[in-house]
Formats: sequence, C-alpha cells, structure tokens
Amino acid sequence: MVVLDGKETSAKIRAELAEQVKALKADGGKVPHLAAILVGEDGASRTYVNAKVRDCEEVGFGSTLIKLPAETTQEGLLKAINKLNNDEDVDGYIVQLPLPKHIDETAVLMAVDPKKDVDGFHPQNVGRMTLGLPTYIPATPMGIVELLRRYEVPTEGKDCVVIGRSHIVGSPMSILLSQHNYPGNCTVTLCHSRTKNLEEICRKADIIVAALGRPGFVTADMVKEGACVIDVGITRVDDASKKSGFRLLGDVDFHAVASKCSFITPVPGGVGPMTRAALMMNTMKVTELGQA
Ligand code: NAD
Repeated sequence: MVVLDGKETSAKIRAELAEQVKALKADGGKVPHLAAILVGEDGASRTYVNAKVRDCEEVGFGSTLIKLPAETTQEGLLKAINKLNNDEDVDGYIVQLPLPKHIDETAVLMAVDPKKDVDGFHPQNVGRMTLGLPTYIPATPMGIVELLRRYEVPTEGKDCVVIGRSHIVGSPMSILLSQHNYPGNCTVTLCHSRTKNLEEICRKADIIVAALGRPGFVTADMVKEGACVIDVGITRVDDASKKSGFRLLGDVDFHAVASKCSFITPVPGGVGPMTRAALMMNTMKVTELGQA
C-alpha cells in the first residue's frame, strides 16, 4: 500500500514553480499576481485564504488579500470584482467560498472575468474543461489528477466511483477521469445522495474518490482489495487536545481501509495540500491563458 503524500508532493510543486518564477524574472517577464477576496470572518475560510497568500509568497508570485466585512452587499462585492477585472496588475483572483447567505454565489462567479478565473468556476471555463480545451481547472480535482500522475497510479480502463456531485469537486472530477487522457480513461460512476446501492457500487470500484463531507463514510467493507482510495472530505470536529481546538476528519475510515488499498490519501496531508498547489499551478498559467 502506498500513501499518496500530498504534503510532500505539493512542496515539490511549489519548489518547481519557484524555479519557473526565477526564470521568468531573469527573462524580464511579468510575475503572476494572484488576488483573493474574503468576505466575512469564517474561521476555515480565513485559514485557507491565509495559506494561499503564504503559498504565493513562497513561490514568488505577487499576492493581494482583499478582506470585506460579512455585511458586504452583493452590489459591494460585485464592485470589488469589477475592480479586479479591470486591474491590469492582477492576473488572476479567487473569491473564497462559501459566501454569506445573502449573496448569490452564482451571480458572483459569473461576474469574474473568465481570463482571471484561476478557480475555474466560470461557466466558460467549465465548458472549456468539459471539451478538454486549455483552461483553469478547479483546484481540488486538478490537485487529485496531479497526485495520481506523479505517483503513476494506473487509471486506464479502471472502474472509478466518485461520491459527491458538487460543482467544485465531484462533478469536475468525474469529467476529468473519464476524459481521453492520463490520468483518465476511467469508466466513471458518479454517486450522490440519491444513489441506490452505493456500497455495492463502491465494492466494484478500482478507484474511489470520496467527496461528500461525512467523516468515516467509506468503510473497509465498501472497498475492493487493491483499490485506490482518494479522500477529499474535510470535516472539523472539536478536539480539546489540539492547540487549534479541532481536528480534521476525512470521508474514509483510513485505518480500516488502508490495508486493503494499493494507494490511499491521508487526511490531513493528502488532497488538501494538493488543492493549494493546484491553485498555484493555475496561477502560473495566467500569462498563457489570460491572453487566450
Ligand atoms: P457539497 O456539500 O457541495 O457536496 C456534497 C455531495 O455529497 C453532494 O453532491 C451530495 O449529493 C453528496 N452526498 C451527501 N451525502 C451523501 C450520501 N450519504 N451518499 C452519497 N452522496 C452523498 O460538498 P463539496 O464542496 O463537494 O465538499 C465535499 C467534502 O470535501 C467536504 O468535506 C469539503 O470540506 C471537502 N473539500 C475538501 C477540499 C480539499 O481541498 N481537500 C476541497 C473542497 C472540499
């Protein structure tokens, strides 16, 4: 069994990107500048955004963090987005999700200039991804694909089950793994909350991607011997023994499942750091894609 180490792999990716930035600077090219908009004070969102800013610093990208109060109106947020769309110095940006309930997420994502949409959430970029055209690919599925590639996990002809159909993880994951590519060429089954016989479907899978947000949902009896299991889930649960006051749980019962697997990702240290690395990879693409 091989543990797919997202922490180590993402550190390698950041080091590679830092070298590319150095080369870009030496050639007199523009270093990518990533901006992030954070609305409100959600603890997890703040942690994620701060980590993204730190990653930019490590890699050598420019970065700007725009913090807006929780009571920001939709109009106010759209104004901030419009400003970034027109800011020539900012090559790409993200709007950290989730947004406060009074803001329409779709309206916001539609307002982002697709050329600066490094999260790959704009319909134009989703369409390009679906057609296999060059584009920004949502960071979590892109990070998973990169992890599979770097560990040379066999995917061609494999039966793959993706659990969860969100626009940011499950749905794009199912598209990428079914494409005529490596990693890809899988026969994909996309499962969700209305799926019947999910356990039985999982037992036939060579690859399981669990992205539903239910700690320990995938148990050993749902996993075939030799399967590859990718755990996307991150759920914070209170833990007084931790300095932070919480610990992170994945969607897979790691200890019971790991011994049956050929490959498995841990939580933390698997898909999470790869998601961050993928955002940096997308940002590196801005000069190429921003002019398309
Ligand atoms: P979401 O809530 O938008 O979607 C959850 C999906 O799971 C839905 O499509 C739903 O149909 C499905 N689902 C729910 N209960 C189910 C059940 N009992 N059986 C089958 N399917 C079921 O979630 P999301 O944004 O896709 O995130 C999923 C998990 O991944 C969360 O824990 C989230 O925190 C985590 N996440 C991790 C990363 C990372 O970088 N590691 C990135 C994004 C999300």
